[in-house]
Amino acid sequence: MHKIPVYQPSLVGNEKKYVNDCLDANWISSKGKYVQLFEKEFASYVKVNYATGVCNGTVALHLALLALGIGQGDEVIVPTLTYIASVNTITYTGAIPVFVDSLPDTWQIDPEDVIRAITPKTKAILAVHLYGHPCDLSALKEIAKKHRLFLIEDCAEAIGSLYQNQHVGTFGDVATFSFYGNKTITTGEGGMVITNDQTIFDRAVHFKGQGLAKYREYWHDVIGYNYRMTNLCAAIGLAQLEKIQTIIKKKRQIAELYKELLQDTNFKVHPEIGDVFHSYWMVSILVDQANQRDTVREHLAQAGIETRPVFYPVHTMPMYSQKYQKHQVAEDIGWRGINLPSYPDLSEEQIKYICDTLNKTNY
Ligand SMILES: *Cc1c(COP(=O)(O)O)cnc(C)c1O
Repeated sequence: MHKIPVYQPSLVGNEKKYVNDCLDANWISSKGKYVQLFEKEFASYVKVNYATGVCNGTVALHLALLALGIGQGDEVIVPTLTYIASVNTITYTGAIPVFVDSLPDTWQIDPEDVIRAITPKTKAILAVHLYGHPCDLSALKEIAKKHRLFLIEDCAEAIGSLYQNQHVGTFGDVATFSFYGNKTITTGEGGMVITNDQTIFDRAVHFKGQGLAKYREYWHDVIGYNYRMTNLCAAIGLAQLEKIQTIIKKKRQIAELYKELLQDTNFKVHPEIGDVFHSYWMVSILVDQANQRDTVREHLAQAGIETRPVFYPVHTMPMYSQKYQKHQVAEDIGWRGINLPSYPDLSEEQIKYICDTLNKTNY
C-alpha cells in the first residue's frame, strides 16, 4: 500500500557536507561561520537589508513584536485563520490579539475587517501569508500608513511568494520566517527576522542575545532571551537556500497538477488570485460541506494518504474564546479545508493516485 505523508523535507543538496564541516571545525553552537552566511544569503534572496537567524518561527514573531516595542495595553490585529503561533506571540508580549476575518477567495486577512477593528489602542497589523498566498499588501500598507500602525508580515508559510513581483516580507516594518521540518525550506527548527530598518534590526538582535549591552562584557541592559540559531541549523539552511528555486518550481508544478486533475470535481483548490506568485506551501482544497470533511480525510487515510485539516480559527480555541465572536469566512474555510500532500519530492504518479482516491470518495 502507498504511504504518502503530508510533508517531508528534501535534503538532497549540500546539507550533509555543511553539517560535517561544522562538526569538523568544532563549531556547533550559535557561533560559527554558517549563521552569518545563511543570514547574508537569505537577505540577498528576499532583497532586504537585514536578517537575523533565530531558533524557530515562533520566537521570530516574538522578537519582531518586541523590537517594535509592543506590549501591555496594546492591541495587535491578526487574522483568526492562522497558525496558533501568530496569536500566542502577541499574548506573550502582554498585548491583546484582536481577531479579524479572512477573504473567501484568497483566504487572506480581510483589509475591510482590519479597518473595522482599529481602536486608539491598536499598534500593529500582523498579516499572515497563509499557505503561501500573499495578502493584499497594497491595502494593508495603506491602512497601516493612514492609521500610523506597524505592519508585521508572518511569512512562515510564504518564502518565495511574491506580491507585484516583490518578495513578501519586504512590505511591512518587519517580517518573520519559519524553517520547521515541514516548511518550504527547513533547518529542522529555525526562523528568521528580516527588516529594512536598522533600529528594528539592532533591537531584535539585542533581545535575541540575552539583552547583552553593546560596550560592556557580561552586562545586560534589558530582559533578553536566548533565541539564537545554531551553526548546525544555519548550515542546513544555507544548503536548502541553494535549492530554493528548484523546490518552489516543483511545488508550483505539484499545485498545477492537482488543479488540473481536480478541475471537474467538487473539490476546489486554493487558487492564486491577483498580481501575485503563490509558493504553495500546502496545496489545499475545500470540500462542499463541512460535514463531509472527516469522511474525505478518512477515505484518504485508508488509502495511505496523510492530510491535515486547514487551521481551526484561533478565536474558537479555549484560551481565546471567552468573548463570543463570529468570523464567518474563517470558520467556513476552517471547517471545510483540507491540506493535501505537498512536499517537493512528490511524484506525478502519487498525485494522480491521490486525486483518483479523492474522486472515488463516497459522501
Ligand atoms: C510554522 C508557523 C509559525 C511558527 O513557526 P515554528 O518554527 O513552528 O515556531 C508561525 N506562523 C505560521 C503562520 C506558521 O505556519
